[in-house]
Amino acid sequence: MRENDFTRILDWPGYRVYRHEIKEEEKRLRLWVRRKRMNRKLVCSGCGRKLEEHHDVSEREVRDLPWGAYLTTVVVEVYRVRCPDCGVKVEKVPQLPSKAPFSKRFEEAVGQACESAAARQVARRTGLAESTVRAIDLRYLERWEANRRKPPLRHMGVDELYKGKQDKFLTVVCNLETAEPLWFGKERKKETLDEFFRSQLMSQQRKRIEAACVDMWEPFRQSIAQWAPNCRIVYDKFHIMQHANDAVDEVRRAEFFRQGVKKRGLIKGKRWLLLSRWKNLAIQQRGELNRLFQLNRRVFKAYLLKESLEWLWDYHYEKAMFNYLRKWMDQLKWQRLAPFDKLADMLLNHLDGILNYCRTKVRFGVVEAVNANLRLLINRGRGYKNLRYLLLKAKRLAAANLEFVVVQRIMKAA
Ligand SMILES: [Zn+2]
Repeated sequence: MRENDFTRILDWPGYRVYRHEIKEEEKRLRLWVRRKRMNRKLVCSGCGRKLEEHHDVSEREVRDLPWGAYLTTVVVEVYRVRCPDCGVKVEKVPQLPSKAPFSKRFEEAVGQACESAAARQVARRTGLAESTVRAIDLRYLERWEANRRKPPLRHMGVDELYKGKQDKFLTVVCNLETAEPLWFGKERKKETLDEFFRSQLMSQQRKRIEAACVDMWEPFRQSIAQWAPNCRIVYDKFHIMQHANDAVDEVRRAEFFRQGVKKRGLIKGKRWLLLSRWKNLAIQQRGELNRLFQLNRRVFKAYLLKESLEWLWDYHYEKAMFNYLRKWMDQLKWQRLAPFDKLADMLLNHLDGILNYCRTKVRFGVVEAVNANLRLLINRGRGYKNLRYLLLKAKRLAAANLEFVVVQRIMKAA
């Protein structure tokens, strides 16, 4: 095989192979390349300026895609230029995206592999260290993020993610229309969300935000009111229903302790059933709940209240929605179910943001889906100390629609 054929198979545009070395025992192929004669224009890696003269030349060796069973590395001649703006700088070579010893297309292959497999597996397959695979994946994702068109933010979601004892809470901002996470912030204060608005969006972009789906968490509401003047707050149905579930659970616990030892057994182990929706239960599970309800009317009442609250979001007109909520609250009279009285107060205090759903239909459930995907990634990736990496990974996941099984499941349940 002549060097010409090597050049053709290697296929690095603008470069030709001028020397090669095959080590049969080690199954290694080494290729030396330099610029083709017509490819003489150098580009400053600092500013992109085109330059004719080079300052000096050196060699760099990078790993490239394998040739059959051969691990292949390429030794590239790299020039330095004397740029009027940047001084002495290394030239820009498309196949050398970073200082790491890998070609761009090798990094792309590793990054793509990381989309469907854990870094550990990709490491085993490529013979690289796991930390190296992660570093390559991160660069791959950074390049992808830098080169793509970013969808506008019109409906945003804000949620918090519990990341464990050390980091506690993360604030997660997402785009409800694309179901992609946009930003992470430490803690969940007003200042946290302020930082998102300040650092991630221009004034024009902030004005374009129409709605935000959030939990009834005052610091977030305040931040949104301050930074996004045209944004309507819509309180997230899922969060409200979580509060309703908490109320059911509180009633259950109180009743459990009020009962004698004998009846406790009936309530015990029913927590999950009580927090499930009736329509999702099997006949046998419904029977179990019915037996419990016959013995304890208060738990029964609490369950009904929770179930019927869910219908609130079937209304499309503010007035009808409000009337339904009022009727729901009327049922609380004389019940002496303290957790539900508390919930009712909370709903009244956030009435505007609940009724806003009639004015701006946001996609409920996206916030939970984004959260679920993040937890999936964290569990699979063993941690993600680098939050930037976690964010890019989740963005890519959302954009590529790779693992939206979780989303679909949650959307269906909504
Ligand atoms: Zn320059």
